[in-house]
Amino acid sequence: MSLLIADNCINCGACLPECPNEAIYENRSASEAKDCKVTEGIGVGDGIYVISFDRCTECVGHFDEPQCAAVCPVDECCIPDSSVPESKEALLEKAKKINPGKEINPAKAWGKVRTGPMAGKFASA
Ligand code: SF4
Ligand code: SF4
Repeated sequence: MSLLIADNCINCGACLPECPNEAIYENRSASEAKDCKVTEGIGVGDGIYVISFDRCTECVGHFDEPQCAAVCPVDECCIPDSSVPESKEALLEKAKKINPGKEINPAKAWGKVRTGPMAGKFASA
């Protein structure tokens, strides 16, 4: 399941350099210019940062928790996108495809996004 950035984003930019999959863009137009899709209705008007569900893996394969949510200073801002359900296996395959030649670690597979509703800022697994 991808994450998405909610309307309460303050455009601080902290999340963008932390993403291991280059899934975060300054706005919807920037993402779509790279042929990276953004969930319908999210980031319309280019007022906030966005996450492309084509590239987000919840950080599976890279880190123990979603890095965008870990650094975001705003509560309930980087949140699960329930319109994009994906299994851990699918996310690992996605991470491999996005990052050819880079080591993808199956042990880095935090499951909270997939297994339950997320409330508030992400805590350690
Ligand atoms: S959860 Fe990870 S892969 Fe997805 S946008 Fe955030 S930092 Fe990038
Ligand atoms: S870290 Fe949070 S508030 Fe800052 S740009 Fe990213 S989503 Fe928006």
